[in-house]
Amino acid sequence: MVVWFSKEMTCPMCRSRLCGREVGGGFALEQDSDLLVHMEGKHVIQAEIHTCQTCRYSGYLKDFHINTTPDVGERFLRDVTPRLTGAPKNSISSTPLPDIQYVWAYESAKFLGRPSLALGNLLLRAYWCLRLPPVTHLTEAESEKRKKTYLSKALDHYHQSLRGNRNPHLYYLMGELSRRNGDHESAITYFQKYLTRRNTVEYLRIAATKLSALAREGHSKELSMKELFSDHKTNRPQQ
Ligand SMILES: [Zn+2]
Repeated sequence: MVVWFSKEMTCPMCRSRLCGREVGGGFALEQDSDLLVHMEGKHVIQAEIHTCQTCRYSGYLKDFHINTTPDVGERFLRDVTPRLTGAPKNSISSTPLPDIQYVWAYESAKFLGRPSLALGNLLLRAYWCLRLPPVTHLTEAESEKRKKTYLSKALDHYHQSLRGNRNPHLYYLMGELSRRNGDHESAITYFQKYLTRRNTVEYLRIAATKLSALAREGHSKELSMKELFSDHKTNRPQQ
């Protein structure tokens, strides 16, 4: 990950000052079946969300460059800030783990009336963060609980965004997220929709066919593309 620049900016909700940074780049490693591309070193998604230490408003750099009237800020502090919980206790910084930062960004975006697709994408990143350190240090039970919450909510928002959607890859993604969430019937339907669409990608068509077969057998296991494309590994019993 590369930090392109950092500079001071103002929180659009409470007017506190904080440091903003533009991040990007990085050397891509392998991809998981839900399209998370692993990267060498710190992953970009772990540094993209900024959080105001005062009111906990969170979002991408661009979300801190919006115009708001004072009453919008007052409403945010009154209605949303109290709900933004989950930061570690006894910590000097009130910045939570990256997955919780995405949840706060999701709540902030919802308050601002952002479209369903954008809301789903924030929750997908919260889910992805569970596979990246330091979030991987959570207990298995806590990680599973968060996984279920993020997947279910992300799928709800993606479902709402389907009308007018022209991107066939959303069907692939919804198929795989549904399979991982244990909703195998929906997974098969979404993969089928992906396979009947134009402008699809060959390796994802093969992946969709394989994942659809796994859904029919009741498999919800998380897989990398490498594991998926090594047939013998996808046949191992579900853990
Ligand atoms: Zn603030």
